[in-house]
Formats: sequence, structure tokens, C-alpha cells
Amino acid sequence: ATPTALMVATGRGAELGIFVKGYQALETTRAVDTVVMDKTGTLTTGRMSVADLACADGTDPGELLARAAAVESGSEHAIAAAVCAHAEQAPVVVPPVTDFVPMPGLGARGVVDGYDVTVGRPSLAGELGPLSDRVAEWDAAGRTTVAVTVDGAVAGVIALADPVKDSAVPAVAELIEMGLRPVLLTGDSPAAAHAVASAVGITDVHAGVLPDEKVDLVRRLQAQGRTVAMVGDGVNDAAALAVADLGIAVGSGTDIALEAADVVLVRDDLRVLPTTVELARATMRTIR
Ligand code: ADP
Ligand code: MG
Repeated sequence: ATPTALMVATGRGAELGIFVKGYQALETTRAVDTVVMDKTGTLTTGRMSVADLACADGTDPGELLARAAAVESGSEHAIAAAVCAHAEQAPVVVPPVTDFVPMPGLGARGVVDGYDVTVGRPSLAGELGPLSDRVAEWDAAGRTTVAVTVDGAVAGVIALADPVKDSAVPAVAELIEMGLRPVLLTGDSPAAAHAVASAVGITDVHAGVLPDEKVDLVRRLQAQGRTVAMVGDGVNDAAALAVADLGIAVGSGTDIALEAADVVLVRDDLRVLPTTVELARATMRTIR
């Protein structure tokens, strides 16, 4: 009966767009009691857009955008896609970038027009001066903010909007109903994290977390005796997906996340998350 039940589960899963990599993964899914979820691209659509932009004194907005887009043209982050799309629509010419260096979970850097340009976490840029008022406004609105530096000096800040997935609200509600504890984990700011958390009904929030610290949090939960599923999409989630008892990648994710995961959700609908747990529970009941 065992192989039959597994084949049924695998077939049913495939119909729903759930790919479970093997028997062990199915067994672990049944035991999961904590679901750690990445924010950007997992709970949100990850289709970010530039909502606002502010420059330091003496910097032209077009120049700021062009240099930021030049660096971001080398990055595969959702923020990078938004900045590049915005530049494409604007009357600016994006110069080439050399010496590009990605900094997962932090930002990206490169040489543009002979200047060393970085785009990334505001905390990396140091004192924002008068721009910090704008950032506070954006924080209050739940925006994601990145800062642009040119030769080490802050040149400006960019606000990004990222809609919450429609499916996130019912998915989280159902997980809670099933007795699972959702946790939000993100490299983004506390303000942006809490905006999403309260929209989807998660109270356990960890923000400003570096990729290595995502791993640490998963380990800490495991040390408390929890069986942890980690749901993510990005390069920055891959290590945490591998360490979690169960790694779940959303299908729109990067290759490295898909490889690190035990379960891949092919569709972007998060409601298949509780369905996956139900399927595993039902299958294991049949087998025992
Ligand atoms: P999340 O955990 O929400 O998926 P990340 O760990 O990928 O976020 O990134 C955390 C933060 O690092 C972002 O909110 C942003 O401030 C900064 N960051 C990361 N990659 C980039 C990039 N390519 N361009 C600009 N900022 C970036
Ligand atoms: Mg992400």
C-alpha cells in the first residue's frame, strides 16, 4: 500500500503544482509545526516598482537613477528589476557598469562613469542627513528603501512598493488554523516587515536579517524543538532552505533556491502551502 499512497500523493501534488522531492520530504512535511516565510517575493509579489526618489543636495535625479540602474543591471534582485525598469521609462541613458560585485542581502556595487557606486540597505550608506525625513515617511508607508552612494557619499534614496500576494492572507490564516506557527523573516527594514506582517496576520517578525542570520534563526527554532519549514525564493534564502527541516521554494524563485528546496511550489498561489501540509498528513495517515 505504501508505494500506491505515495504515487497518489505525488500525482495529486503535481496536479496542484506541488513538487515534493522524495519520501523523506513528505514525511517531514507532516511533522512541520513552524513555517518561516521570507517577505520579498514570497509573501509579496516581488514585482517591485519605484514609488519615489529623493536626492542629496547637488545630485540630479536623472543622474542618480541612471547610476543606480547601471549597477542594478548586474543584479537579479527584485529591487534591481524595479530600478532598471524605472530608468528605462525615464529620459535617462544608463551608462555601462564595470567591476560589478553583488552583495546578497545587502545590495550591489560597481564602477559607473568612473565612480564607485553602491545601491543597497540604507544602513550601509551611513548618515542620510536631511534625506532621513523622507525615509521616515516611506517607512511609515511600509515602503522598502534603498540608498545610493557615489564614492562613499550618499547621493540619494529610492522607495520601492511591493504588493502583498492576494493568496498570502488566506494561506497564513489556514496555516494558523491547522496549528502551525508562521514567522516572517526578511532582510528588509522593520517598518517594511511590519507593514506586510500586519497585512497578512503574522505577529512573529524578524527584520533586517542577513542571509547567515536567516540560517541562525532557523537553527534557533530547531533548538527549541520546532520542526521548521522555511519558505523562500531568493539567493539569500538558499542556505536557510537547506538548513530547515523542510525547504520550500516558490516557483518564481531563483535556481539556487529551487535546488536547495525539498518542495517546490510551481504556482505562485500561497494557498498551496497549507494544502501541501494537508496532503502530507493525509498520505502518512494512509501509510501507517
Ligand atoms: P528579503 O529578505 O526581503 O528577500 P534581501 O535579503 O534580498 O531581502 O535584501 C535585504 C535588503 O538588502 C533589501 O531590503 C535592500 O535594502 C538590500 N538589497 C539587497 N539586494 C539589493 C539590490 N540588488 N539592490 C539594492 N538593495 C538591495
Ligand atoms: Mg525573497
